[in-house]
Amino acid sequence: MKIYNTKTRSKEDFIPLEAGKLKLYACGPTVYNYFHIGNARAFIFFDVVRRYFEYLGYEVSYVQNITDIDDKIIEQAIAENKDFSQIAAYYADAFLEDSRRLGIKPPTVQPRATEVMQEIIALIKELEDKGFAYEVNGNVYFDTGVLDTYGSLSGKKIEEQLAGARVIENTEKKHPADFTLWKASKPGEPVWQSPWGEGRPGWHTECVVMSQQHLGRSFDIHGGGIDLVFPHHENENAQAMALSGKPLARYWMHNGFLNVDGDKMSKSLKNFFTARDILKEYPAEAIRFFFLSKHYRSPIDFSKELMTESHKAVQNLHSALALMDESAAPESTEHSEIQAIETKFRDGMNDDFNTAKAIASLFELASIIRNSKLETPLRQAAAKSLLELGSVLGFFQEELAPAETSLPDLSAYLIEMILRYRSEARANKDWALSDRIRDELKELGIEIKDSPEGTKWSINK
Ligand SMILES: [Zn+2]
Repeated sequence: MKIYNTKTRSKEDFIPLEAGKLKLYACGPTVYNYFHIGNARAFIFFDVVRRYFEYLGYEVSYVQNITDIDDKIIEQAIAENKDFSQIAAYYADAFLEDSRRLGIKPPTVQPRATEVMQEIIALIKELEDKGFAYEVNGNVYFDTGVLDTYGSLSGKKIEEQLAGARVIENTEKKHPADFTLWKASKPGEPVWQSPWGEGRPGWHTECVVMSQQHLGRSFDIHGGGIDLVFPHHENENAQAMALSGKPLARYWMHNGFLNVDGDKMSKSLKNFFTARDILKEYPAEAIRFFFLSKHYRSPIDFSKELMTESHKAVQNLHSALALMDESAAPESTEHSEIQAIETKFRDGMNDDFNTAKAIASLFELASIIRNSKLETPLRQAAAKSLLELGSVLGFFQEELAPAETSLPDLSAYLIEMILRYRSEARANKDWALSDRIRDELKELGIEIKDSPEGTKWSINK
């Protein structure tokens, strides 16, 4: 398997630290709001990474943190006239709920920053004792000048990085790149006791503690959105390097940006969508399909048109699956056609998680299922394979069916059923009936096209 490593800017062979085991960490949310669809892209993608390793037989430890103390949470608490812990608890629950509704499997561990405060303080103390941190007026900073590998993850010169970022003048720091490990408290802010006085930790340290606590000082894969490479991940890695001389993770994976109708998503442009907003209009599988139909490192452009297309595409897979009872497939029968498609699926996934290629294999299986000229055991085996491979991408989860209605959306299945009767009519040369079915479907806005491979349908808006 090849994985693109942000650190080396190249695809590398994946070799786990421990054979048969994957230790994966991906940055979770800072809980001060509902998460947006850009965040959803990262959460869904790393869920698929986890699912694929499990499909390959790995024992996966997947840690995703919840940042429940941060400037943004404090700001939101002031705006809503609540305690920071109420804000954090409310949006952490909303995060868990929305993740579940997106079909994201709960990570192995989901630690929260406020639960590991003593460990955070101990880590900062260790950095200070080793000469990598200094205290000024109750604030503790990481001394980037002491670590010669600083900048090795993001790869650019620190001056360049800082020129691109907004740097607030801070006269306490020795160097502009030095970052806060511990923040002295201002009046009215939540506080914890520490050797440097009352205060609270910096975000970069929280992630180091929560990942290392469950995965060890160095682990396999660290993931997150591309916007986290600098300074967040650079600063996480710097602390690990300072502590043990080992990088925090061997492979650093980052998913690309999300735009909306060609623009950067922002609240001021009124093109800002939370995952919760989108789940009101589209099922989770359509959202997953939309993200996974594009390579994770490419930027992705969100639009309602593409979402509607994605919705139709997953319905298409579902309607194919509904044609066969995949549980009836005999275990022992091997079909070389199916094995070849499964190999293509894995080849796609093994090539730095090319989920678009993997999805193409699902449609190949669907067309075998639909082809009534093929023998039933082969079509059943295709259905079994479609169910298994689709599940790797998080499709076909029973629990994703909307809870408020007892019946799923049956339209796609019903159209398939009507089309099967129409083919029977055609086989019996009953052209009058076959044409009547075509015309009546057309009146409902369903266009059908006959071809040598069978009849295809589409919704004509
Ligand atoms: Zn993080």
